[in-house]
Amino acid sequence: MAGLQDPSPCQSCGACCSFSADWPRFTLEEDAAIARIPEAFVARSGMRCIGDRCSALQGKIGESTACQVYDVRPDVCRACQPGDEECNMARQRFGMPELETEAASKRTSVVIKVTK
Ligand code: SF4
Ligand code: SF4
Repeated sequence: MAGLQDPSPCQSCGACCSFSADWPRFTLEEDAAIARIPEAFVARSGMRCIGDRCSALQGKIGESTACQVYDVRPDVCRACQPGDEECNMARQRFGMPELETEAASKRTSVVIKVTK
């Protein structure tokens, strides 16, 4: 998910951060990168979850959310982009509408301009 500095749909979502007790896991992070995440949020092989929800997620899903460790978040969190398959699967679980990826929405804008 994105953080407070991004004008992003993630700020009113948080679905992918609350999708599974087994997510997010650490993947190829170096020990130094993991060490930068405050210990209270870290479990053995990934972020500590409370139920299905990452302990670093702040706020109310579908209304207003933020990642408390945004600058040092795991690689899988950086990889998850609004509108990708995983994003829309998570949003669907919480009854939120699907999003288009940024690239797809730019293509739509071009089509609109051409047909006007
Ligand atoms: S599910 Fe999508 S929109 Fe929601 S926080 Fe994750 S990446 Fe952002
Ligand atoms: S570390 Fe941040 S971006 Fe990753 S799942 Fe937790 S709250 Fe979401």
